[in-house]
Amino acid sequence: MKKTFILLLLKWLGMFWLAKKITTKRPRILCYHGISVDDEHLFSPGVFMRSSTFARRMTLVAKWGYQPVSLDELYRQQQTGQYLNDTLVITIDDGWAAIEQGILPSLRKHNFKATLYLCTYFVENQRPVFNLAVCYLFWKHRTPFILTENSSLTPYTAETQLDIENLLSLSVKLGASYEQAILQELADCFGEDLSQWQQNGKLMFLAPEKVTALAAEGLSIELHTHRHRFCKINLANTESELIHNKQYIAKLTGKQARHFCFPSGRYRPEQVKLLADMEIKTATTTENSLVNIKKELLTLPRLVDNDNISELEFEAELTGLMTLLRLGTSFLKPDNTLNQ
Ligand SMILES: [Zn+2]
Repeated sequence: MKKTFILLLLKWLGMFWLAKKITTKRPRILCYHGISVDDEHLFSPGVFMRSSTFARRMTLVAKWGYQPVSLDELYRQQQTGQYLNDTLVITIDDGWAAIEQGILPSLRKHNFKATLYLCTYFVENQRPVFNLAVCYLFWKHRTPFILTENSSLTPYTAETQLDIENLLSLSVKLGASYEQAILQELADCFGEDLSQWQQNGKLMFLAPEKVTALAAEGLSIELHTHRHRFCKINLANTESELIHNKQYIAKLTGKQARHFCFPSGRYRPEQVKLLADMEIKTATTTENSLVNIKKELLTLPRLVDNDNISELEFEAELTGLMTLLRLGTSFLKPDNTLNQ
């Protein structure tokens, strides 16, 4: 409430307008994830946005005079030494199935370019994303998972019921080949119909043929690793994650992906060097800020949008006001002032 009041006051004082003027040559890269087909926006509003929220956001982007461009165009502008006024890029992370119904219609309506950073494992393996689906089911039903007499887990545990931590740690020990059977048992226990999820795309990724169709329509498909693993794995595995991801995307789209998004936004310096060695042109993080011309292209910040952000907060971010305010407060920190 206090934040809303302060932002309204700043807007009324013309600070939104001024911030937009000051930051006009600093590109905005917007970050989205999935779309809710049921109640996933209540479960995880940071990952799943309502399609109505996204549609409204795109209306505002158009109203405020932005015409989103591709990452290739952002790269081209950077190479000239100066970004054009009001450059904006729309990025969508992961590859959730419901973006087809929840995001693409709005992009088509406004003729907006966008980039999908695709993790390819759950495109190749068409089943719900295991860890998230388990968390969702426990969130929704709030009871322990009671094993049936003929449960496939009985040989591996002496317990007759499992909580979320026990189930997830047991599934890690058993490996990915057990995941779908475990999820099916869990869904049966809670009375959920997984076949419906297959139909409506709940907690699922896009099917391979959908990726091909969306790429043909003009959506840029770029890199996000094969299994959404990056920061915690060694360099050899990092490289194989990227190669696998790139080859699968090339198979689906016929194009060579050259842009990357760090899974969960985290990375180590030697991994950034690997991206440069692999001739990746840009890479994006989840650092919340506008882009600066001096900023390295392989650690670009983004404005991470989600369903809990109000339109006023969204506007404050897009005008650049929040970036300027964060910059101001970082200058006031003791260790930064010492470095000036
Ligand atoms: Zn991701």
